[in-house]
Amino acid sequence: NQNLTDAEISEQNGVSEADLAPPLLVQDKFLVSVEVCLKPSSTARTDDVRLAVERMLEKRSLSYVDGPILVPIDDPFLVENVHRICVCDTDEWVNNHDILLFWQVKPVVHVFQLSEEGPCEELSADGQPSSFNEWILPAKEFDGMWESLIYESGLKQRLLRYAASALLFTEKGVNPFLVSWNRIVLLHGPPGTGKTSLCQALAQKLSIRFSSRYPQSQLIEVNAHSLFSKWFSESGKLVAKLFQKIQEMVEEETNLVFVLIDEVESLAAARKAALSGSEPSDSIRVVNALLTQMDKLKSAPNVIILTTSNITAAIDIAFVDRADIKAYVGPPTLQARYEILRSCLQELIRTRIISNFKDCDNLILPNFSTVREKLSKPEIQEAEAPLPLCKQLLEAAEVCEGLSGRSLRKLPFLAHAALANTYSCDPNKFLYTLIDTARRERSEL
Ligand code: ADP
Repeated sequence: NQNLTDAEISEQNGVSEADLAPPLLVQDKFLVSVEVCLKPSSTARTDDVRLAVERMLEKRSLSYVDGPILVPIDDPFLVENVHRICVCDTDEWVNNHDILLFWQVKPVVHVFQLSEEGPCEELSADGQPSSFNEWILPAKEFDGMWESLIYESGLKQRLLRYAASALLFTEKGVNPFLVSWNRIVLLHGPPGTGKTSLCQALAQKLSIRFSSRYPQSQLIEVNAHSLFSKWFSESGKLVAKLFQKIQEMVEEETNLVFVLIDEVESLAAARKAALSGSEPSDSIRVVNALLTQMDKLKSAPNVIILTTSNITAAIDIAFVDRADIKAYVGPPTLQARYEILRSCLQELIRTRIISNFKDCDNLILPNFSTVREKLSKPEIQEAEAPLPLCKQLLEAAEVCEGLSGRSLRKLPFLAHAALANTYSCDPNKFLYTLIDTARRERSEL
């Protein structure tokens, strides 16, 4: 799966034309999500903030593009309560078509406050770390994660729409005997391609988007592999205990519960090992317990099960069958690699680790499509300052073929460490070293 083309990856993903459709059109207006993050100190009612933001947006006559909207300083209520306002999900539309003008848009405002509680890890009776973590969503730790994950167009939107439809069907009481659907997502692909992060980010996004229907959301993370640790004789009990807890959460109908089961391939491995006699048959019982519990949960309307696997072939067939949406998450394409590296570089410019040249502080690196287009017109190449830099960045992205998203995000750090004596370094020199480092990383694959 290492050297798939964009088209092949899209095909594996089952991305169709429909997935690239524009935002929802309602009464001739495009629905665009506007997310409003409250300050930790704010005690304002979310409805009041939502109304204030809606009023503010009505007065605004600018186009809609993804990114922050300034909190107006002449609105003391918003200034006191709002940390940030962000337009979301217009990207694909804007890239493929024209801009979205204010009168074409009906903003859908979602107000939320981040939980700062952190993960609540339960210890098992013998004091061993347990095999699950619990988060209250939206959590501070997952803030910005969705935006930082970069895939070929369609994947993130498809997941979001899928989950949104599943929740809507449930909410509207669609009869499951007539139309069947479930709320199980399986992401599979090589390690380090962001599957776990994407699940966490998806849960966070949905908790924000559905907060008016479900004021509370939790994410329970289970590492399937850890269920089969040497303590696995305890595992059966662990699974039972875990799911009992989840069941209790689900019974509260204003709760939206996400269960993330990582590395589900270990379930299949455990079953196989048990069959061949190399592992006690207890482990079969654990796998079966897990599957039974999942089936029980399935009937609850307010739970979404997210699963990941690093090995496509080895996933338990019982598991694959249960998942409604199966998406292959592959190594980043050239465009994704460019965008990942661009975001890294932009961050190093923001923090002034890269600087040393005129106006570097204000430098905004253009995106992939813009750079491609500009490079195809040689007459403007000389005129634009960041272009030679972007050309280098593009070269770096090309060299990084085959590296995972995880390796890409580490690369700038490794490159910096490889540079001698540099508090703030020149961007050209930095990229030169980055390309070198990438070559070395690739040769070690
Ligand atoms: P997996 O579960 O597939 O092994 P992870 O979710 O653990 O991968 O990914 C680790 C990190 O690698 C992510 O948190 C992210 O920083 C980075 N990463 C991986 N894939 C991407 C991507 N497509 N875009 C941006 N960052 C990525």
